[in-house]
Amino acid sequence: MELINTHCHSRYCGHGEGEVAAYADAAAAAGITTLAFTEHYPLSSAFDPDAYLSVPKADMRAYEQAVLDARATHDDMEILLGIELDYLADTDDRDLAAANLERFDLILGSVHFVDRWPFDDPAQRGVWEEPGAPERIWSRYAELWCEAASDPSLPFDVMSHPDLPKKFAFYPQFPLDALYQRMAEAAAAGGRMIEVNTSGTYYACKEMFPAPQLLRAFCRAGVPCTVGTDAHTPAHVARDIERAYALMRDAGYRQVTVATLGGDRRVLALD
Ligand SMILES: [Zn+2]
Ligand SMILES: [Zn+2]
Repeated sequence: MELINTHCHSRYCGHGEGEVAAYADAAAAAGITTLAFTEHYPLSSAFDPDAYLSVPKADMRAYEQAVLDARATHDDMEILLGIELDYLADTDDRDLAAANLERFDLILGSVHFVDRWPFDDPAQRGVWEEPGAPERIWSRYAELWCEAASDPSLPFDVMSHPDLPKKFAFYPQFPLDALYQRMAEAAAAGGRMIEVNTSGTYYACKEMFPAPQLLRAFCRAGVPCTVGTDAHTPAHVARDIERAYALMRDAGYRQVTVATLGGDRRVLALD
């Protein structure tokens, strides 16, 4: 079936590599039909002092132009201009007025920070080993994620890597069922999509985001699901997309939902 990837990064953020054009060429060679570039939207220096986590504000126009150029040279593929936008709740110090966001075809909503702290940054892994840390971080993460997912006034189309706190394989002592249920209800209430993010397999958690049980909860709640590889290098642009489809099938999904140019959606049957 068609291959789609609606989550990838490039050299424009501080921790990615590869030109946008190289991604588009690699995606076309792999047979991808929809590719969304979703660079990390600029963070202030309070959150990203080393310009490592996000695209420097001064480079955003160049990023956007590179995506438009790639679109112009590939009539074999639909190329979306997107961003991955951090949900920072009341600590947000940026101007996210609609006028700053309306040019994007796709906005991924991500929680990488709890109360200003970047919990999935490898430099912060040690904090997870403190007593009680997994319980505290997972709980706070879920609160913030549910706020971001359920509030229709926020601009997110897709909620990325829903169970990101498992990245370093630290889990809370309490069972996750109730938390999963709240997340599924929040995404349904906000009309969001979620993604199967194939990058999880390559972290300590050794499985895609979300976990099969959480993906089943999303499916039962009627939350549409798409697929992203979260590539940070062109070599990973098509990595494990078919495995993501298999995970979706096993969770009960019968179709993959795909963002289209201009903010609409289409569906692919999972055969
Ligand atoms: Zn992310
Ligand atoms: Zn990402």
